[in-house]
Amino acid sequence: MKIEILGSGGASITPKPLCNCNLCKNAKLKGIPESRLGPSVFIHDAGILFDTPEEISYMLNRSNITNLNACFYSHHHLDHTMGLRVFECNFDYRNSFVKPTPYDRNIDVYVPTFVRKVMESNFSIWEHLSRYQNWGLINLHTVTENEKIKLNDYIVSTIQLAQTFVSGYIVENLDKRVLVLMDELLDWIPEKLGHFNCVILPIGLFTVNPFNNERRWDEKHPLCRTEADFIEIKNIISKLDTDKVVFIHIEEVDGLDNETLKQYVEYYANERDWQVGFDTMIIEI
Ligand SMILES: [Zn+2]
Ligand SMILES: [Zn+2]
Repeated sequence: MKIEILGSGGASITPKPLCNCNLCKNAKLKGIPESRLGPSVFIHDAGILFDTPEEISYMLNRSNITNLNACFYSHHHLDHTMGLRVFECNFDYRNSFVKPTPYDRNIDVYVPTFVRKVMESNFSIWEHLSRYQNWGLINLHTVTENEKIKLNDYIVSTIQLAQTFVSGYIVENLDKRVLVLMDELLDWIPEKLGHFNCVILPIGLFTVNPFNNERRWDEKHPLCRTEADFIEIKNIISKLDTDKVVFIHIEEVDGLDNETLKQYVEYYANERDWQVGFDTMIIEI
């Protein structure tokens, strides 16, 4: 199975527009791996996409992807959805001046019931997707918890997380299994999910510097209550059975460059195969 991290950034891309911090200045100079676009993961052979951040159209071109068959949404937050205009690539504007017509191709878009519920009342996301369905650009599917969606040789299943508006996904083919968690793992305790060849999940904030134990984030900071930090993520990993871990959703606001992140992760990994994700990273399993 060939997986690509299209975007390894979090709520804000790195460099963040208008920001002059050292991290952003460095990212502007060096590009990848310091620069990070919004959170998005792609399964190459099957043409399966997870989430559409604002930069998704650019990212699909950057990675030379031409087989987008299905898109699964993890949740409604804007860093995961605001690029949904990408589906307008199915309009054939050349065909008619008056009314653009859809190409004879379709993208299946899957939204779990519990994600749909929040999309219906936030940012008009469900309305927007429904409009595209009416225009014939996508096939919009609502799926239930634990439903298995069969896509050729692949099966994708949804898992509702402790933050009940969020879905994780298990992707499996004949002999490989991957767990894709795009965001929002606070309070989640994985149970009996079986063996994975790879788990992709958010890195969380490094609230503590592992080398000197100094707190980097005040315990009372609101982000420490709403987001899982790396220690919590590490506890989640300890309850999962996986050969490999790749961290994504790396926040500009945490201010850590790629080298420092690698050192921090290595410290906790203790010889296990834990890797800091970067844009265009290919994972072959
Ligand atoms: Zn996010
Ligand atoms: Zn910055």
